[in-house]
Amino acid sequence: MEKILVIGAAGQLGSELTKSLSELYGGEQVIATDLNEAAKSKFDYCRFEVLDIMDQEAAKDLIKKENVKQIYHLAAVLSATGEKKPLFAWDLNMDSLLFVLEMAREFKLDKVYWPSSIAVFGPNTPKINTPQYCVKEPNTVYGISKQAGERWCEYYFQKYHVDVRSLRYPGLIGYKSLPGGGTTDYAVDIYHKAIAGEKFNCFLREDSYLPMMYMPDAIKATLDLMHAPSESVKIRSSYNLSAISFAPKDIYQSILKHYPNFEIEYNPDFRQAIADSWPDSIDDSPAQKDWGWKPDYDLDKMTKDILENLPNFSF
Ligand code: NAD
Repeated sequence: MEKILVIGAAGQLGSELTKSLSELYGGEQVIATDLNEAAKSKFDYCRFEVLDIMDQEAAKDLIKKENVKQIYHLAAVLSATGEKKPLFAWDLNMDSLLFVLEMAREFKLDKVYWPSSIAVFGPNTPKINTPQYCVKEPNTVYGISKQAGERWCEYYFQKYHVDVRSLRYPGLIGYKSLPGGGTTDYAVDIYHKAIAGEKFNCFLREDSYLPMMYMPDAIKATLDLMHAPSESVKIRSSYNLSAISFAPKDIYQSILKHYPNFEIEYNPDFRQAIADSWPDSIDDSPAQKDWGWKPDYDLDKMTKDILENLPNFSF
């Protein structure tokens, strides 16, 4: 039987994407993998294996033994953590992607999915409605690794016909797991504080606009892209993807409609400089045109959904 391998499955994106893949293909077809055994409890609906993607021998054995035909490669060091460990972030983000692309070439895999990020943009990029094609001079190691990764994806598609597909996610907001060290994490943490009845200490300025997306939209976009006919996927570096653009003051106002006594204070830290180098909003017209992308959630619809469901969710 052909299998789908998810690398870094226990993270913020992986825990929800792996569930959707299991619902679509069946839990026996999906192999969730992550660094340690502790993650196993999240995956009672599909198979789970411990796999450090830097252990290339073990990864290659698994791909061969299980007849893996699709890989979703989600393991990465994210933006804020990457700034604390730049060389480690570069090694993990680049070596793992090149290894996965090599596996796809060698074993003629059907498809590979690898996420990029709005971190590929930089201070000289147009900030409003950032176009698909424009100046990209990322100034974080995370952004540099994503930009280089995009070039490698296109290279493997053109030279070796590897069917690799990618999205430049904006900040992803979900309530089913805790975020993994990104600059947009505040927009997840703020809901936890509102529900706990605590004041929120925001590490970005109140007017710091960033492109964001609710997790169900990110999952929909990923699966829509992966299920699109190959000839519709015209961009093989990574697609711009857009849903909601908001600042901390906007998400605060949206939460106030449900929790009128909620309080916030703003104490920008090193993450403000990262946020300042990223776009305010994104033009995703190629994704709309090529494979019909359209988000379902705006800010208030997302807030309502999170505040209704988060209190009943157990980690
Ligand atoms: P996350 O940090 O929550 O999850 C990453 C997972 O990878 C973790 O479970 C971690 O244990 C695992 N991992 C780390 N090193 C590994 C290794 N050597 N071998 C195997 N697994 C390893 O990250 P996320 O938010 O789920 O992001 C997933 C992907 O989406 C990443 O490529 C990230 O760059 C991209 N992305 C995320 C966002 C966002 O806002 N969350 C935005 C843009 C792009």
